[in-house]
Amino acid sequence: MQTCDFIIVGAGSAGCVLAERLSANGRFSVLVLEAGGSDRRFFVQMPLGYGKTFYDPAVNWNYRAEPDPGLAGNADHWPRGKLLGGSSSINAMVWIRGQPDDYDGWAAQGNPGWGWSDVLPAFKAIEDNQAGADALRGQGGPVHVTDCRPFTHPLTAVYLEAGQQAGLPLNQDFNGASQEGVGIYQISTRGGRRMSAARAFLRPAMKRANLRVETGALATRIVFEGRRAVGVEYEQGGRKKTARAGREVIVSGGSVNSPQLLQLSGIGPAGHLRELGIDMVLDNPNAGRNLQDHLGINYTYRGNRATLNQILRPWWGKMLVGMRYLALRSGPLSLSMNNAGGFFRTDPSLPRPNMQLYFQAFSTVIPKSGERPILTPDPWPGFSIGLSSCRPTSRGEIMIRSADPRDHPRIVANAFSTDHDVAEMLAAVKFIRHIAAQPAMRAVIVEEILPGPKLVSDEDLILDFRKRSGTVYHPVSTCRMGPDPARAVVDGRLRVHGLEGLRVIDASIFPENISGNTNAPAIMVGWKGAEMVLEDCR
Ligand SMILES: Cc1cc2nc3c(=O)[nH]c(=O)nc-3n(C[C@H](O)[C@H](O)[C@H](O)COP(=O)(O)OP(=O)(O)OC[C@H]3O[C@@H](n4cnc5c(N)ncnc54)[C@H](O)[C@@H]3O)c2cc1C
Repeated sequence: MQTCDFIIVGAGSAGCVLAERLSANGRFSVLVLEAGGSDRRFFVQMPLGYGKTFYDPAVNWNYRAEPDPGLAGNADHWPRGKLLGGSSSINAMVWIRGQPDDYDGWAAQGNPGWGWSDVLPAFKAIEDNQAGADALRGQGGPVHVTDCRPFTHPLTAVYLEAGQQAGLPLNQDFNGASQEGVGIYQISTRGGRRMSAARAFLRPAMKRANLRVETGALATRIVFEGRRAVGVEYEQGGRKKTARAGREVIVSGGSVNSPQLLQLSGIGPAGHLRELGIDMVLDNPNAGRNLQDHLGINYTYRGNRATLNQILRPWWGKMLVGMRYLALRSGPLSLSMNNAGGFFRTDPSLPRPNMQLYFQAFSTVIPKSGERPILTPDPWPGFSIGLSSCRPTSRGEIMIRSADPRDHPRIVANAFSTDHDVAEMLAAVKFIRHIAAQPAMRAVIVEEILPGPKLVSDEDLILDFRKRSGTVYHPVSTCRMGPDPARAVVDGRLRVHGLEGLRVIDASIFPENISGNTNAPAIMVGWKGAEMVLEDCR
């Protein structure tokens, strides 16, 4: 049996930060249990390789949500990273913090220390922003953030022009003073390689003697003595093992797996867990509930000039971009497909943006089973304007379906289950067409391919987005933070209510989703969480 001060379950965005921070001063021994394997894989390191890892069971949990009436009965694919770096090793690398009001909202819900002025120093300390540091941005931190403005496809300029013609400001930095407007995304890469949480935090820390990382180690149950978490049972190489934690067990399995592990350990809705024959430790119906996610959809156009399709599809194009990447670590393979994007309000009377835009100078209308065809796009010059909601009000849940830790839990997203979310998305897709109707865009569009010009009525547009939208991979809040155990799983210091020696520190603790992509906020939660752990064990 291994004994250490801290056990961290999961080496994902938050878990890697915790591993680095908790082992940094050398006082504590830290054990990380990661169910997946190494991140030293070509398609993990190469930024656009996320097209290949999207369904790859070697690095991906490959969850499937339950058929969802809100998505016209579709069972959505839910990729989650299963390797060092977690989802930050398979994500699209867009670096967005969210809006100050998101975090002030967290604090207003009774979570001191999580307001914008509290989290901003952490965001600044985390990043090494290529564009430079100022009052809001940081330089010299572990996560290099690449300024992609010089590298985008020429069509991106057309999108930015059309966005401004549609009434949005040009925004030079979505993580700067204001999020609103159209602009170029910054991405977490360095030197043409993915800057995952493993690369930024875990790999450097693995040189320390007081940090031990076990891969292929699936945590199956948290071990309790009374109400105190004292260790973790796990399976590795077909053997059952136990590790003991002298100080704390920290669950960082992400928004699907953290509630799953709590439930397997007897923390969750008592009725459901007893039915499955699980010994109860703590009845808390919130473990697994309050699931929030961002839903997205693309509108796709055939253009009259070459897009990335023309270089990424033919064999000779693949060879050229491949050689360029191998020789220079540059070109399309070194970037995210989401070159540009933006944030806007579906109703000008709203106090802040409620929708996020994505512009991709490529298209993948023709489906390919088992593959996200980023590297084999459509044969014609296509491009897409996509969007996702920032703060939808639909809520779902994640519940284990058996006591077997290898069984995937049931994911019930309840997408578009509120009138608010349907009305907001309807207004948003109409705004995509408003952008496409601007002179700059009209000059390059031959036709709208999806959903196609025949769909114009509200009814048809709603049916279309129910059929074609899906997760944009930002599930949160399944172990949410809050002062009241009747409504939350962890308190403001990320300790599980009602228990000792146990915290959850990852995207599952977000009290509400943030407006934008969730990797930077999950890393920030790891950073702040580590500070709290260290403060509490002085
Ligand atoms: C395809 C995709 C694209 C995305 N694109 C973006 C983007 O462009 N920008 C952005 O900001 N965000 C993006 N995201 C979201 C972002 O990456 C996640 O929100 C973030 O990484 C979540 O961090 P986390 O620490 O909560 O969990 P994760 O990073 O998912 O880490 C959880 C870790 O725990 C491990 N684990 C789970 N259960 C166990 C267990 N029982 N035992 C041992 N180990 C376990 C997992 O294998 C994993 O390594 C994307 C996500 C995906 C999947």
